Amino acid sequence: MIEAFIALGSNLGDARAQVLGAFDALAQLPGTRLLARSPLYLTPPWGVLEQPPFINAVAHVDTALPPHELLDALLAIERAAGRVRDGERWGPRTLDLDILHLDGVAFSDERLTLPHPRIRERAFVLLPLHDLAPALQLPGQGRVADLLASLDTAGCERLP
Ligand code: ATP
Ligand code: MG
Ligand code: MG
Repeated sequence: MIEAFIALGSNLGDARAQVLGAFDALAQLPGTRLLARSPLYLTPPWGVLEQPPFINAVAHVDTALPPHELLDALLAIERAAGRVRDGERWGPRTLDLDILHLDGVAFSDERLTLPHPRIRERAFVLLPLHDLAPALQLPGQGRVADLLASLDTAGCERLP
């Protein structure tokens, strides 16, 4: 088993329901246990600013799935949630599931980069990740609490 942190995001349709449903879908993946779910955050769009706000969260799991099988499983959950990739990078989506970090894993190939290369630029990732794992060391990026401290979190709201 390997521990993993997965980022969840949605800003199309019922974003909150999509993210909550994704936690359940993660818990049902083969060989996978959902260890913890972060609070939900309402966050401003990033990268492409003219789109609705996002609901974001992070899941902590452990899994027997190898990295690329985990990625395939996440892409299948996204498709089941109606995700359509129309070519616009960082555009609106019903569901985005990214692998942030797999314990002890650092590599990049044509399908997968671990840790996720843009964590340190993203308050919408670091806020919920910090709720679960403030002391986590991300290879090549740093400690989660330090990364969060250097980011502007204005506009991000933790939901009750
Ligand atoms: P970003 O990666 O900046 O958050 P995105 O999530 O919108 O952008 P997607 O369209 O969801 O991008 O994914 C494009 C491709 O990114 C996926 O098909 C996958 O092969 C690749 N990818 C590389 N590293 C990862 C990772 N750590 N987690 C998820 N997908 C990854
Ligand atoms: Mg993403
Ligand atoms: Mg993605």
